[in-house]
Amino acid sequence: MKFGVIGAGQMGGGIAQVAAQSGFDVIVQDVQQEYLDRGRGVIEKSLNKLHEKGRLDATPDEVLGRIKFTTHMQDFADCDLVVEAIVENQAVKNALFEQLGGIVKPEGILASNTSSIPITALASASGRPDRFIGMHFMNPVPLMALVEVIRGYATSDETAQFVTQTAEKMGKTPLTCNDFPGFVSNRILMPMLNEAIQCVMEGVAEPEAIDGIMKLGMNHPMGPLTLADFIGLDTCLSIMEVLHMGLGDDKYRPSPLLRKMVQAGLLGRKSGEGFYKY
Ligand code: NAD
Repeated sequence: MKFGVIGAGQMGGGIAQVAAQSGFDVIVQDVQQEYLDRGRGVIEKSLNKLHEKGRLDATPDEVLGRIKFTTHMQDFADCDLVVEAIVENQAVKNALFEQLGGIVKPEGILASNTSSIPITALASASGRPDRFIGMHFMNPVPLMALVEVIRGYATSDETAQFVTQTAEKMGKTPLTCNDFPGFVSNRILMPMLNEAIQCVMEGVAEPEAIDGIMKLGMNHPMGPLTLADFIGLDTCLSIMEVLHMGLGDDKYRPSPLLRKMVQAGLLGRKSGEGFYKY
């Protein structure tokens, strides 16, 4: 099995690592060598950690040896499956899939790891909508069990079956849904985070109390504001906008406080401050 990954960032690196751990031949592509080097470093560190804990079947070098890093899209030509994990921007992803559809062999399957962009739209751009699907891994990929498999309007049964089996070979649990805004995961999660932010804005409680109530009372491993900071407030806002626009219901309106924090550059953990300071 030849497994392609586009984007060597947080998600792409994790997907490539888990695919290589499962014995697949992996090719990772990014736009600059510097991003590939950074991605490789992150994978190496993660593999060493797993090895130390005795949770790796092969040596880190063996696993890393199965991953080829490249800046050339043409290297995907003979891939059986290519998973895209680049920036969450529909125009950029559309352009990429238009190009990729002309490179990968006709029987190859294309997948997107998008959190919120319609799979059906990306499938159309690829020119092979029956062999296109959403393969939504969770962060951090090496540790999280779920792969949300999203069937676009024209995804074939064979494509869905192939991707489900591939996710299982990667040690993951695939669960399937249809293509509606936010799929299942973010349609349910994001309104909860948005509501927690609305509670801060209305002065219902302090952030620590809101998180504590949800952690201790609902047995959540992490409070909603801590989780929003972890995901990134800009990402939360853009997903709420997809839900609001795609479903046309004001119950998905992004909290004005969320919008204001993003405007102020408070993006959570990655910017050093969100609902908490890091
Ligand atoms: P990231 O910024 O860490 O990585 C994106 C990578 O893609 C970067 O290395 C960038 O250089 C590269 N890239 C950008 N344009 C490219 C192009 N045209 N060709 C090749 N490479 C390109 O982002 P991420 O957090 O890994 O997110 C990637 C995707 O995964 C997004 O669609 C996001 O919505 C989705 N996702 C993210 C998470 C999360 O928690 N971070 C969870 C699930 C899904």
